[in-house]
Amino acid sequence: MSAPRLEINLDKLQHNARTLIKRLAPRGISVTAVTKAFLGAPEIALALLRAGVRSLGDSRIENIEMMRRAGIPAAMTLIRTPMLSQVDRVVAHADVSFNSELEVISQLSVAAQRAKRIHGVVLMVELGDLREGIMPGELEQTARKMLRLPNIQLLGIGTNLACRSGVSPDSHNMNELSALADSLDATFGTRLSIVTGGNSANLQWALSGADTGHINNLRLGEAILLGCDPLHRQPIDGLHTDTIELVAEVIEAKEKPTQPRGELAQNAFGEKSQHRREGNCLQAILAIGQQDTDPYGLQPPHGVNILGASSDHLIIDASDRPLTVGEELRFGLNYSALLRAMTSPFISRVITTNKSEQKK
Ligand SMILES: *Cc1c(COP(=O)(O)O)cnc(C)c1O
Repeated sequence: MSAPRLEINLDKLQHNARTLIKRLAPRGISVTAVTKAFLGAPEIALALLRAGVRSLGDSRIENIEMMRRAGIPAAMTLIRTPMLSQVDRVVAHADVSFNSELEVISQLSVAAQRAKRIHGVVLMVELGDLREGIMPGELEQTARKMLRLPNIQLLGIGTNLACRSGVSPDSHNMNELSALADSLDATFGTRLSIVTGGNSANLQWALSGADTGHINNLRLGEAILLGCDPLHRQPIDGLHTDTIELVAEVIEAKEKPTQPRGELAQNAFGEKSQHRREGNCLQAILAIGQQDTDPYGLQPPHGVNILGASSDHLIIDASDRPLTVGEELRFGLNYSALLRAMTSPFISRVITTNKSEQKK
């Protein structure tokens, strides 16, 4: 098989999705699976739907368009506020978009009238993490203005925490979101159908037994793909953390000194060489680098240490696990390594199942 490649085990992925859906259902919370980390790959999206996910969300319209072309039968939400330059594409391909700017919603309205479609809007609220969102005090006024816009339907409100500043979802900010939803309903006589509390970082709160109030949806990417809680990067009980692995190939394996020789300045990425113990080590080079992934977000197999990386070379200390040229090595990935690996044109994606893994 060609290397480097990402191996994606669909059975493990489905187990993760199914488990999270089952745990959240009694809390009155549905799951929107977030497809951006795998660029909307149709076979992965289909596996998530088979696991019981009802709707899909992506931050890039290109990924949503691709899933539409592939005939993925699901409601699709653009979870980043649309660019003004893309409103026609958004209305044509996404059923719903997350929004925080009235100007954008008004252009979506114009585009929706042109396309003779109704476009659903979820208003995003800023609750402390300082990424997207309307300030809470301005939510009602924004909703009032958008309710006058033709071909636009206010479906709900939402928030996003943890991604920019690491603000943890808790009873305080979630109760605030819930109360804002109740207050909009009371003011406008609506019943907001979506109150989406956040991303994988919300799981701890959602499963803690705290009152979920009006909150009825989470958007999950990392927790399904990596089985990991993004607040503390801990494995989530009962989920697979090896659903996706990166396989790279050894192109050089030699005994080399641990210390560089010559006068030291910056390397290609502005880093200075770390001081290491004296002597020699069994150094191996894998044909993968900064252009393909986040080398420091890779989890090497037992007995292997990552020493450094340049654009196309990953250098490891394999003293405890001698390697030969042509051998393959498997790595776990964190979110950053996964995002970059998925977008590298040099890394292929291979779908596996538990059955195909047993055969190896
Ligand atoms: C990426 C993203 C998500 C999913 O985040 P995970 O941490 O991968 O679960 C949810 N909501 C929004 C708005 C996002 O941009």
